[in-house]
Order: sequence, then structure tokens, then C-alpha cells
Amino acid sequence: HLTNETIKAELGRASWKLFHTILAQYPVKPTENERETLSSYIYLFSRVYPCGQCAEHFQKMLKKYPPQTSSREAASQWGCFVHNIVNERLRKPVFDCNEISDKYNCGCGPDDKKDKN
Ligand code: FAD
Repeated sequence: HLTNETIKAELGRASWKLFHTILAQYPVKPTENERETLSSYIYLFSRVYPCGQCAEHFQKMLKKYPPQTSSREAASQWGCFVHNIVNERLRKPVFDCNEISDKYNCGCGPDDKKDKN
């Protein structure tokens, strides 16, 4: 049960890491299908996120700031923007979104054909 702050914070860090990494590997020029897939993923994520209070806030934020799926750049910057809104609400430092592509490049995406691990 997610009853304490430590577990909530750990879950948050792991989730943001996955979230930003997915956005950093998202296609530069997505197809309609890829756009729909990302959008669905984000909305479904907001419904299954195990911290109920966090999920509720996130769903409200998605209504105000719908996922941007037109390109990798748009999606990554949107992800950084919404994370910063959560940061502000929790009184955490705001992250510089210019640094997002370096930080979350796992070198493991569909573009990285050489990496077959
Ligand atoms: P985190 O915010 O977890 O960030 C991890 C690392 O990501 C940072 O150290 C930094 O290197 C980097 N980072 C920071 N900002 C950005 C950014 N804008 N873009 C890219 N990278 C960045 N907790 C609550 O207590 N209440 C909530 O309502 C709540 N809602 C949440 C909603 C969602 C969708 C998620 C995923 C998490 C939520 N959390 C919530 C958890 C919270 O956001 C933090 O994950 C948690 O408090 C741990 O914070 P942290 O300081 O370790 O850094």
C-alpha cells in the first residue's frame, strides 16, 4: 500500500524517468497511428497511476494541457512542462527544459538500430 511519502516519491521518480524517456524516443515525425498510441498511453497512464491523489491532479492537468504528439520535440517539451507544473505545486525547483534531450536519451529507441540489446 502506498501509504508513505518515501514510496510516493520513489514511484514518482521511477515514473517520470520512464515518462520522459518514452517522450525522448518518440518519433521525430510520428504517423497518425503513433500519435494516437502516445496520446492513449498518456491518458491511460493518468487513470492507472497508483497514487490516487497524483492521478487526480494529473488528469486535471491533461484537460488543461492536452498531450502534444506532433513531434518528438513537441512531446518532450510538453512532458517537461507538465512535470514542471507538478514541481511548482510541490514547491520543487523548476527544471530547464533545454536540457531534456541530453538527460533522457537512452540510446535504445527504435531509431537506434545498432543497439540490439
Ligand atoms: P522528481 O520530480 O521525481 O524528478 C526526478 C528527476 O527528474 C529530478 O531529479 C530531475 O533530475 C528531473 N526533472 C525534474 N523536473 C523535470 C522536468 N520538468 N522535466 C524533466 N525532468 C525533470 N507527488 C505528490 O506528493 N503529490 C502529487 O500530486 C504528485 N503527482 C504526481 C503526478 C505524476 C504524474 C507523477 C509521475 C508523480 C507525481 N508525484 C506527486 C511525485 C512527484 O512528482 C515526485 O516524483 C516526487 O515527489 C519525488 O520528487 P524528486 O524531488 O525526487 O524529483
